[in-house]
Amino acid sequence: MGINHKSIPFHLFLTTLFGLSMAGHVFPDPLDHKRPLDERIDNKDEHYQHYRQETTGQTENDQWIILPGKVRPYRNTDFEAELSDRSVAYPETIEGRIIHDDKTGDWIEFELDGEHVVLPRALVVRKTESGEDDSYSEIGSERLDRNIPLPLEYVPGDLTRLNQKWNFHGSDYSKYLRAEVVQTIEAMLEEARRNGIHIRVFSAYRSSEKQRYLYLKQVEKKGLRQNSVAKPGYSEHQLGTAVDLCGLDPESVASFDFDRAKEGQWIADNAPRFGFVRSYTRENQEETGITPEPWHYRYVGTVDRE
Ligand SMILES: [Zn+2]
Repeated sequence: MGINHKSIPFHLFLTTLFGLSMAGHVFPDPLDHKRPLDERIDNKDEHYQHYRQETTGQTENDQWIILPGKVRPYRNTDFEAELSDRSVAYPETIEGRIIHDDKTGDWIEFELDGEHVVLPRALVVRKTESGEDDSYSEIGSERLDRNIPLPLEYVPGDLTRLNQKWNFHGSDYSKYLRAEVVQTIEAMLEEARRNGIHIRVFSAYRSSEKQRYLYLKQVEKKGLRQNSVAKPGYSEHQLGTAVDLCGLDPESVASFDFDRAKEGQWIADNAPRFGFVRSYTRENQEETGITPEPWHYRYVGTVDRE
């Protein structure tokens, strides 16, 4: 018996009802091409450790950000259970621990006005402190994986508008990427064009706030266990370095066959030369937890860039 939208009380979502529907992503890390190999491996081990901690449940408390606009926690891990009298709301932070219920899934247990209450884990996101340094600004080494989200307040400092020529959508839907990424992708798409291959960008930078609406909308539609839209903080699109690519044909937008189309093939062959890598492949699916997305590329720079 799974959790589906029928078993989610409507009051959870009263204040979260807008946004667009679009596939989003949680993220892998191992794309850090610029660091020495050893350092990358160390970094990965850290991530795995974090993952184990999180999935096996942990005793220590952690900071979590509430995602819905307003939500009343339960008194126990049963959707039929009584609700607390108090509510919590985005962007409040709670300190709590993960608990697991075989029937209803993962929850966060925390204290609210002296009372022990719980919220489905799908309605919170782990809080990442923004570093004092500019730790997310170096392209290719931004830290983001399936258990360590970006700080929700993170916005790249150098977002630049993509030339409308490469935008799949009209100018009402301008697209932004970090300055270096705009420059590089425009050069790449121009080279494709000279070879008779016409590629467009259908998604670029997305703020954590936008991702939050997309996420809650999808949860509202498909239930707490939906896995097609990432929680805010877990989308590579927040980095301003990730793009979703398509051809001129609307059918090619978010097409699982994109890598078999001539546009997708050209990109697969040429992207690495420009410093773009495919984030979600069949090979890393288990590690990333994401279905392969042949249209999604992340710019990490080239190895000898510096
Ligand atoms: Zn994408």
